[in-house]
Amino acid sequence: MEDNYEKAGKIAREVLEYGKSLIKKDTLLLDATNKIEAKIFELGAKPAFPVQISMDDIAAHYCAPPDDETVFSNQLVSLDVGVHVDGFIGDNACTIDLSGKNKELTEASRKALDNAIKITQIGTTLSEIGKTIQETIESYGFKPVKNLSGHGLDEYNIHSFPTVPNYDTEDDTKLEKGQIIAIEPFATKGVGLIHEKGLPNVFSINEIKPVRVPFVRQILNKIEEYNGLPFTKRWLGSSLPKVNLALNQFKKLKILKEYPPLVEKENGLVSQAEHTLKVDDKVKVLTL
Ligand code: MN
Ligand code: MN
Repeated sequence: MEDNYEKAGKIAREVLEYGKSLIKKDTLLLDATNKIEAKIFELGAKPAFPVQISMDDIAAHYCAPPDDETVFSNQLVSLDVGVHVDGFIGDNACTIDLSGKNKELTEASRKALDNAIKITQIGTTLSEIGKTIQETIESYGFKPVKNLSGHGLDEYNIHSFPTVPNYDTEDDTKLEKGQIIAIEPFATKGVGLIHEKGLPNVFSINEIKPVRVPFVRQILNKIEEYNGLPFTKRWLGSSLPKVNLALNQFKKLKILKEYPPLVEKENGLVSQAEHTLKVDDKVKVLTL
């Protein structure tokens, strides 16, 4: 019987493919984002995090604010989609080269993912996966982004043990039967490091505290429905000034976690590829 991880994986893939078809020159990033998120619900799942469409030197965590005006033209576009079915998550990503000038860079992360999947089995060490990713990306003449990594997945938890590296960390921790992991290589023309830059539009709440103002309370109630998973301003229903006020309040209460865009340190272009796998006697790629 198909379990919820398998369901989530399939839906995540279907939504990613749908999303790819929307990322075209002269269309709006915000429109694409809204349609992709709607598709997740249509297929019977919920977003595990807001759909993120990061471009060029932004490796991850770019999420359209409600007033986003970005138009696709010649960017290198990474689409990251995570969905959950009752808390069981499927996470996958791909890169679309709208200029047609970054085929190799796009291929480098995809091939690194393929090669990493090929060696994944019970007992594979994290460093073996990292080494495979690093060597594949370097064989194309690019660098892996070292301070971004894959991760374990757990119920209502998108970043659990283990951390799955994108370079040889010499970590000899072995993969174990039953683990659900996301492998996500990033390849770049830059130095291979990212830093946080720009305004966040992905958030999570790490604790519920009492708030007095009714509309702030209402927004917090809405956020509680996400069970600790990340959310974005577009989801909170109220007017943008009210949402901003509420988020400021949560920040003062120290219950808000912010995830700003992650930008390559030398502004090198970045490509990404990601799949979710189940480590088992026969490894299963859940997001195929
Ligand atoms: Mn992802
Ligand atoms: Mn991931």
